[in-house]
Formats: sequence, structure tokens, C-alpha cells
Amino acid sequence: MTHYNEFGLAGQVAIVTGAASGIGRGCAVALATAGCQVVVNHLPDEADKVEELVREIGSFGGQAVPFAADVSQEDQVEAMFAAACSRFGTVHILVSNAGIQSGAPFQDMTFEQWRKVMAVNLDGQFLCARAAVKEFLRRGPQPEISLATGKIICMSSVHQIIPWAFEANYAASKGGVMLLMRSLAQELAVHRIRVNAVAPGAIQTPINRAAWEEPAAMEDLLKLIPYGRIGQPGDIANAVLFLASDLSDYITGTTLMPDGGMSLYPAFRGAG
Ligand code: NAD
Repeated sequence: MTHYNEFGLAGQVAIVTGAASGIGRGCAVALATAGCQVVVNHLPDEADKVEELVREIGSFGGQAVPFAADVSQEDQVEAMFAAACSRFGTVHILVSNAGIQSGAPFQDMTFEQWRKVMAVNLDGQFLCARAAVKEFLRRGPQPEISLATGKIICMSSVHQIIPWAFEANYAASKGGVMLLMRSLAQELAVHRIRVNAVAPGAIQTPINRAAWEEPAAMEDLLKLIPYGRIGQPGDIANAVLFLASDLSDYITGTTLMPDGGMSLYPAFRGAG
């Protein structure tokens, strides 16, 4: 993984939300490998998992500190950014990754289910992005560190464009993430703050265990992925590293879709 040094991220401070598991964990490891100081956000009941992650990052000389915060709670998000700045001086990169699913046939979906998904997937993006932007503007440009004053990477989903039956709350939240991201990118480019999204297809993590754990489910899933394999957290971390680095300095308001072609509507190949 030594090629990660080439991203030029050494000495930058990153916050990764939902970093105890899956994609967030992969992004935290990749950013630390690239030389970032990483705040690994987690829920209070994930302390064991995040301790193990901090140990892993330490084992290759990387720097990570855990911070427990629910991204849907304003006071907790503010406290996390305050702690990051007090520990590392500032923040350069936000990977706003925490997200949940709670699906149901629409007529049975409770208001609580709707609101919970919106709270984590969309309120969380708003609260974390706002705290990051305040810090980027307070600090101002540091061209010796990065050409951009700050970088925000929102973890979206192919479901920001692909409708998803029985997961209407999730798809609506990710559609919201897309236009939040694009509106922020339009508003903040003048300050050299870049805002982009990564919209994964099917990635092998606990959130979608039911879709890949049993061989029959995996076979059905692979019909939706022209590239012929399920994605891994590292596939997403690579896109995040690119969007966090100066290699993507002219890119803002864009969504990268590491999805093995899932968003190409593969069922239409030779049909329709
Ligand atoms: P995951 O369940 O492995 O990880 C999500 C993490 O977010 C967990 O550690 C969870 O505890 C944390 N989290 C949940 N609510 C939180 C809150 N309120 N505050 C802080 N942390 C919270 O799932 P994952 O697949 O790694 O998902 C990460 C992101 O990627 C999510 O936004 C998800 O929507 C998105 N995504 C995943 C896939 C996929 O196929 N796995 C596809 C598209 C998008």
C-alpha cells in the first residue's frame, strides 16, 4: 500500500464518520496509510471495534483517535469537530460516511423508520458538512498543505439515482445527499472548498449482509453487477483518496460511482 504516499495527503487531518465498520473503516485505514491524522467517529456501542481499528492503524505507524458521536445530534457533531481541532489544530478532510438502512413495504413503514434514516443519512450530512465548512473558513487556505481550503466527501449510494422499492426512505435520503452535495459545491467553490460524493454500488459490508451471505443471494446480486464481482471497502477508499487529494483539485460537485456498472441498468443489455 506504499503507493498511497503518492496522494500527497501527509500531515492532513481527516474525520471519517461511521468508521468502526465497513466502508468507513476502509477509508480510515487508507487515509491513515496515506499519512493523514484520522479522527475515527463511531457510535458509543462500537468502542471495541474502533479500539481494534486504532491499534491496526498504529501498527503501521499511522495516527488515529476515536471519537464517539451520533452524527444526527448537533451537540455531538459540534463536540467532535471541537475535539479534532483541539487535538490536531484543524480539519482538512471530512468523509461523511455514517449511514443506515431500515426498509419496509411502504404502507408499513413507520414514521419513526422514515425519520431515523433521514436523521442519520441526511441530517448527519448537514451537521458534519456545516461544522467542517465553519472550520475550513475559520482556518483559511493553507496552500503548502493542499490546494483546496477543505475537502468534503459525502458517502452517497447508487440509490441517489436508482429508485429502490422497499427502501424508499434510504433512496430519498441519498437523493437528498446528492443535491445537498451539489448545492454546497456551487456555494463554496469560491472559497476553494471542494464538495464531492462517492456513490457505491454493492459493497461487501454488514449493512447488506443479507444480499451476499447466502450463495443464492450473491448469485442474484451479481446479476445486477456487469463487472461480475461484489465491491470491497478498498474500492471505495481508493475513490475517497482521489477526491481528498490535490489529484482531483479541479473536481467539485461530482459523484464518483464505484459500482461495477450497477448504475448502467444492466437488465437493459440486449432487452428493452
Ligand atoms: P456499515 O453498517 O458496515 O457501517 C456503517 C457505520 O455507520 C456503522 O459503523 C454504524 O454504526 C455507523 N453509524 C450508524 N449510525 C450512526 C450515527 N448516527 N452516528 C455515527 N455513526 C453511525 O455499512 P457500510 O456499508 O460501511 O456503509 C457506509 C456508508 O456507505 C453508508 O452511508 C451507506 O449508506 C453507504 N453505502 C453502502 C453500500 C454497501 O453496499 N455497503 C452501498 C452504497 C452506499
